[in-house]
Amino acid sequence: MAFELREECGIFGVFGHPESSKLTYLGLHALQHRGQESAGIASSDGECIFFHKEMGLVADIFDEETLEKLPGHLAIGHVRYSTTGTSELKNAQPIVVDFEQGSLAVAHNGNLVNAHVLRRELEREGSIFQSSMDTEVIVHLIARSKEELLENRIVDALEKVKGAYSLIFLTSDRMIGVRDPHGFRPLVLGKVKNGWVLSSESCALDLIEGELVREVDPGEMVIIDERGVTSVRPFLPAPQRFCIFEFVYFSRPDSIFMGTSVYNIRKEMGRQLAREQGVDADIVIPVPDSGLPAALGYSEESGIPFMMGLIRNHYVGRTFIEPQQSIRHFGVKLKLNAIRDVIQGKRVIVIDDSIVRGTTGRKIIKMIRAAGAKEVHFRISSPPTEYPCYYGIDTPIRRDLIAATHSIEEINRYLTSDTLGYLSVRGLHRCCPGQGADIYCDACFTGKYPVTFDFAEQEQLHLFRSQPSVKIKTR
Ligand code: AMP
Repeated sequence: MAFELREECGIFGVFGHPESSKLTYLGLHALQHRGQESAGIASSDGECIFFHKEMGLVADIFDEETLEKLPGHLAIGHVRYSTTGTSELKNAQPIVVDFEQGSLAVAHNGNLVNAHVLRRELEREGSIFQSSMDTEVIVHLIARSKEELLENRIVDALEKVKGAYSLIFLTSDRMIGVRDPHGFRPLVLGKVKNGWVLSSESCALDLIEGELVREVDPGEMVIIDERGVTSVRPFLPAPQRFCIFEFVYFSRPDSIFMGTSVYNIRKEMGRQLAREQGVDADIVIPVPDSGLPAALGYSEESGIPFMMGLIRNHYVGRTFIEPQQSIRHFGVKLKLNAIRDVIQGKRVIVIDDSIVRGTTGRKIIKMIRAAGAKEVHFRISSPPTEYPCYYGIDTPIRRDLIAATHSIEEINRYLTSDTLGYLSVRGLHRCCPGQGADIYCDACFTGKYPVTFDFAEQEQLHLFRSQPSVKIKTR
């Protein structure tokens, strides 16, 4: 059976509010960029756990009627990213289970690198799995733990797993948030009137008029109940390794991490890019929306005017998630259009946040040339993406990453740009909070994976997962 290796997700939870499921619905709506494949909410009225999950977007899944069926003063929710292959309801979260101590729901963002090994062991000992998600391994380990208290069972389970996790658990009367010791994926603590909130990103707090209290620390567990928030640090300390790609692409620009908005971090990346990869030109244009803050920074630093030369149609899904090259090719045109009036006769600097396979960039450059550009200079506000992520960002296997197999000059030729320039790894770190401190995971750019694993095996699993999962015929 295939395993989920690519778990790009958003998680959210509310404790102590009479309309907790409605707030969770709003929170998930603000985190929709982190996952568009499925969404779910589990709530508790102090005695029972109720839940609803479906494939699709938050706004399409939940209405007054479904939210009425999720009563109680605590709730957690999850949005899951659409990846190729195993796009099935059984992989939607929160996972809700009954075990010795009652009901438990869990929402997970991140990716475990030893889930398949643990799962094999558990299956050999008789465990039956219902999904292909690594999160289910955590649930089995909790159920089998010999510890008495739930929080100790959670710690017991998490001590066995390796990789990235930000988790929110819900019992009938408590909400528990945990971040892995490296703090790969984000998790913030917030406050609403009479209640507490956990969220992948702070932008979700703004929507529900909540207040950001702080980030949950790497390796910290927060237990939220009637008495308030209790913090424990049950794991062996490890070097902080927050995912730098959250700043480059994944998080929303209006989210705040380590006291700085992602918007300002991205703008700084643009400034640094202008310092490192300057070129004479007439206008700077972003690839909307991901390249926008960096293009503003590039323009400010270089003094070259910022223009909107490309317009995005917001009603199309991200092309990145489409499986076939032929569809992807079509997708870019569906999503973006060039403004001839802005571009014609100009030497254009085009800013995007990253190049993965190179498909988007090539199409965009063709489009800009067709709109009459005299020169096209492509500038990327991150270093070449040379390595896959195994900790929760959806990237293809190594051989499909254009920067893994081609030099910058070769990529430039493939894209058909006049020049191509990337931000340096050092430059990127300088733009992020901590300014050069060794607190980030940048494995997608450097290949330095903070948590080790069998690389060949992960690649095999990655490949296997991109096939539609095997269905067992029952009739
Ligand atoms: P590609 O066409 O494969 O080179 O994809 C590059 C585009 O995908 C860029 O415009 C990025 O903003 C976007 N992108 C980069 N990483 C991801 C990701 N993990 N998920 C979705 N889109 C991404």
